[in-house]
Amino acid sequence: MRKLLPKLLPMFVIALTASAQNRMTPERAAGIKADLAGQIDAMKKQAQVMNDTVFSFGELGFQEFETSKYLTGLLEKEGFKIERGVAGIPTAFVATWGQGKPVIALGSDIDDIPQASQKPGIPYHAPMIEGAPGHGEGHNSGMPLNILAAMAVKQVMEREHLTGTLKLWPGIAEELLGTKAYYVRAGLFKDVDIVLFAHVGDNLRVTAGPGDRTTGLVSVEYTFKGETAHAAGAPWRGRSALDAVELMDTGWNFRREHIRVGSRVHYVITNGGDQPNVVPSNATVWYYYREADYQHIMNLWKIGDDMAQAAALMTGTTVTSRLLGSAWPGHFSVPIAEDMYQNITKVGLPQWSAQDQALAKALQHDLKVPERGLAIKIPELKKPQPLSEEDDNGIGGVGGGSDDIGDISWVVPTVTLNYPSNIPGGPGHNWANAISMATPIAHKGVVAGAKVQAMTILDILTRPELVDKAWDYFRNVQSKDTKYQTFLRPDDKPAIWLNEKIMEKYRPQMKALYYDPSKYDTYLDQLGIKYGEWK
Ligand SMILES: [Zn+2]
Repeated sequence: MRKLLPKLLPMFVIALTASAQNRMTPERAAGIKADLAGQIDAMKKQAQVMNDTVFSFGELGFQEFETSKYLTGLLEKEGFKIERGVAGIPTAFVATWGQGKPVIALGSDIDDIPQASQKPGIPYHAPMIEGAPGHGEGHNSGMPLNILAAMAVKQVMEREHLTGTLKLWPGIAEELLGTKAYYVRAGLFKDVDIVLFAHVGDNLRVTAGPGDRTTGLVSVEYTFKGETAHAAGAPWRGRSALDAVELMDTGWNFRREHIRVGSRVHYVITNGGDQPNVVPSNATVWYYYREADYQHIMNLWKIGDDMAQAAALMTGTTVTSRLLGSAWPGHFSVPIAEDMYQNITKVGLPQWSAQDQALAKALQHDLKVPERGLAIKIPELKKPQPLSEEDDNGIGGVGGGSDDIGDISWVVPTVTLNYPSNIPGGPGHNWANAISMATPIAHKGVVAGAKVQAMTILDILTRPELVDKAWDYFRNVQSKDTKYQTFLRPDDKPAIWLNEKIMEKYRPQMKALYYDPSKYDTYLDQLGIKYGEWK
């Protein structure tokens, strides 16, 4: 006990300077939590309108102009101070309300998926606009969730005279892993105590410790330059940049046998030349290199750069590359996750209607996956995985997706709340994942998630020891052997030009389908879709 004292003393001092005056009895806190839940239930209509409006904007990464304008407008009306265009990203913002410590930052992504346009509430592929982007992941729901939570907490803070600051910020171009490393570089989280991130899922869930089946990545674009020539008349005078792209890709496709099994390397050719009778003088290939940790990601990047150089040598072309995105593998605060999990069990899953379940099962039938319907049981909080960097055999993990919240999780104690707005069994990044996203399933998921978020904010505001525990875990466990270092090089800049052309092409048609809540109760009504009825 005596040994513990010196450690506890500084923590106590921090607690006093933080939010000791916010302390309340557990009974009082429980009462306020019930009040928060009631307030959020009373904001159901706002939840539906916000969720459906953002769904109808359907904007790709870096082009979230309507979404950003809409959300900042709402927050401004609520008395938040808005800082626009943060970190050199036009659609990014930080909305701040309140005073003093603790500073709690609520984030969620707002961009969508190429080719995922889909009528909501219809359990098979039915694009609203053929080829257009759509919310085929569900990023339309997360910021509405955070806004609901913030509005409810703000009322309580005003009434109870609680000190603390709320900051709301959007994940821009998450599907491109495009911005959060730049947020960190710009110092957006310097004064933040805790980050609560929300991401759509198919159940109420929070991860404690390293992400399960997640990776980090760098997104790198290679452009080869050669020489044009008549492809039939004088091919010997040409130098084909497309040959270089194909050789680089072929090199990688042989090399994949000889890297760790959990590595993920994938590419698209974004420019393969103009027409067959002109030797392509310009060609571009875009790679994602995913791995379990910083060093293994850097290793893949180095192999890729070598492949590109080798392909250039083979073809007599030159190559340049640029970084389009990056993400650290996530690591989530165990103390905050444990607290949030208590709130998850308190809130529980939404009451699904027969129509909700019927839609889910019909989609699962269409996708040929088990027809389990929507989640009816909250999963256990998984024990954090062991922190060993390297597994026994050195072959790496099993691989998986990435999220640039990882970068933020390495500079501030962070958790990600998953909430049940999606139908289980979807392939992800697909029209199928959009089907529930402007239906009562999404709306109920947002309301449940907002309650968990609000209750967790209250815990952080009123229990300063929770913030101290989170920082103790962050400093002495999470960061004990691993220190964050950015993938960004000093000259790298956010790739804000991405998706500009696609949005230019589809926006005029999409505009005609923006949700008008002054005329229609729900977006389904506007589209003439009767919920629970489909052919
Ligand atoms: Zn996402």
